[in-house]
Amino acid sequence: MTYRAPVRDHAFILRDVLKLEAYANLPGFENADIDTVEQILEESAKFCEEVLAPLNRVGDKEGCTWSPDHTVKTPTGFKAAYQQMVEAGWPNLMGDPEYGGQGLPAVVATAFQEMLASANMAFGMYPGLTAGAYAAIHHGGSPEQKALYLPKMGSAQWGGTMNLTEPQCGTDLGLLRTKAVPQADGTYRISGQKIWISAGEHDMVENIVHLVLARIEGGPAGVKGISLFIVPKFLPKADGTPGERNKVFCAGLEEKMGIHGNATCVMSYEEATGFLIGEAHSGLKIMFVMMNEARLGVGVQGLAQGEAAYQAASAFAKDRLQGRSLTGPKNAQGPADPILVHPDVRRMLMDSRAILEGGRAFMLWTSLHGDLARLSQDEAERERAADYMGLLTPVVKAFLTDKGLKICSDSMQVHGGSGFTEHFPASQYLRDVRISLIYEGANGVQALDLVGRKLAAKGGRAVMSFFAEIDAFVAETGADAGLAPFVTGLKDAKDKLQDATMWLMQNGLANPDNAGAASTDYLHLFGLTALAYMWAKIAKAANTRIAAGETDPFYANKLIVGRYFLERILPDAASHVVKLKAGAETMMALPAEAF
Ligand SMILES: Cc1cc2nc3c(=O)[nH]c(=O)nc-3n(C[C@H](O)[C@H](O)[C@H](O)COP(=O)(O)OP(=O)(O)OC[C@H]3O[C@@H](n4cnc5c(N)ncnc54)[C@H](O)[C@@H]3O)c2cc1C
Repeated sequence: MTYRAPVRDHAFILRDVLKLEAYANLPGFENADIDTVEQILEESAKFCEEVLAPLNRVGDKEGCTWSPDHTVKTPTGFKAAYQQMVEAGWPNLMGDPEYGGQGLPAVVATAFQEMLASANMAFGMYPGLTAGAYAAIHHGGSPEQKALYLPKMGSAQWGGTMNLTEPQCGTDLGLLRTKAVPQADGTYRISGQKIWISAGEHDMVENIVHLVLARIEGGPAGVKGISLFIVPKFLPKADGTPGERNKVFCAGLEEKMGIHGNATCVMSYEEATGFLIGEAHSGLKIMFVMMNEARLGVGVQGLAQGEAAYQAASAFAKDRLQGRSLTGPKNAQGPADPILVHPDVRRMLMDSRAILEGGRAFMLWTSLHGDLARLSQDEAERERAADYMGLLTPVVKAFLTDKGLKICSDSMQVHGGSGFTEHFPASQYLRDVRISLIYEGANGVQALDLVGRKLAAKGGRAVMSFFAEIDAFVAETGADAGLAPFVTGLKDAKDKLQDATMWLMQNGLANPDNAGAASTDYLHLFGLTALAYMWAKIAKAANTRIAAGETDPFYANKLIVGRYFLERILPDAASHVVKLKAGAETMMALPAEAF
């Protein structure tokens, strides 16, 4: 079984659901007419299917190798594939044209990212982290820093990393100890140890640009004293080529459950030369640009691994012969029927598919708001889109990765023992996807961010405009008989979300543990409501095609999968409301010694 990129679905969402052509007035979108976008996605899909997917298992089996000279060798084939990717220009799809990028919309790059992460998640992290570091320098770097680093990082000739985590400092960045000592020439000496740094050292690029959080000597304690530094592996010469070796070294690699093809490094900074980005003590603000970018990317990973696992499971279910259909043989000539005839196998495949197709629309819709927030000429539209990005980023990250894990687990279940053993890729998908719930802010912390910060930000403006958008859609489509179940389902989910939001405002303020205890259920309720909205939009687009005489089953199938979502997944919304309203009391009641 090999991975097939869902370009057809990407094109449908971009063309029919999100109506990309309506945004042709945005800079970059003028070169992104839908036919060109489809061609780009088809070409990049070939690279993912033919070059990266075959290396996925190689990466898993071989892993990366560290040597005492601090070098790291990536698995066989990774280096050549990376070179091919750079030459084709894929990493630079949405890069700023001022620094050699293609300036295409982020929404197109997101579709590519999904394919990359489905074909080979461990490989995709190398350019993924570089893109995040690029975004941070682009946002907060000086003109000289941008000119020096962005062209090479945009093309992915140079790699990028993010260095937050230290042994005593994970979620709580206030505990950070890495030290920065100012020098007379304006640079800093950076010393300390960072752990679990993805792509911290490897053999595929000529230079690696580490973005490092550190505390300037004498700076305030806690998160207020954190600054951000560029610490390149080789200090660039004035002409932009790599020069002197900097004193930052990979001291070892972690053994881990999955993504073996990605180097997870212990990094040692030994008075390395660092360059401050932005203002002293305000590094977190700029690092958040990278973290938000990376959070969306991790949500994409959850969906992408789910897609690959679903494809493997459906191929297996059509092939594997066991038992007979409850309603009489469907493969009478054979010794048994394919397991796809069994309703319970269908349940797992349909659950997966309904989340994947709705989730893909949600991911691309969110990404389109990223474009609007950056590029719209209309200030009100930019503001609204930026509000949405703040609100939706934790939902994309945590909802899509929680669901991605469930889909990968169901894929293993469909494979039976062949999934738990290593004969099929199901085990690797399940192992690889697991980290996506943990890094870039664990999912519980995303849920807290949603209820604790994002809901209340600017007087609740973002969530209110989300509700208003759904209300407008319901009003506009309420009389459309062909959409009736979708509109009813959406309205009901939105009412529940609004009710839960009110409950949180009243009970979370009175007792913050109520907000914490409700947060994951609230985030999932939010995710389900967003998907109900996406499915209503998908159904509307499919109906339009069918009404125009389109007979391709692709559209009729969308309506079936959408109805399945309404009947069998959206009802979970009610249970989330009941659970979150139970409050914190019982959850917090057992004394610590009882655990
Ligand atoms: C393979 C891999 C790659 C990684 N790559 C990078 C990288 O490139 N750069 C980098 O800087 N880091 C990286 N990390 C680190 C990763 O981001 C952290 O593991 C993550 O942020 C969580 O920190 P922690 O592991 O210390 O968990 P902890 O902070 O110890 O948290 C443990 C658990 O407690 C929960 N928790 C903690 N605080 C709270 C709270 N206030 N409220 C509710 N729940 C809470 C968390 O949700 C989590 O479930 C990587 C980790 C791994 C395993």
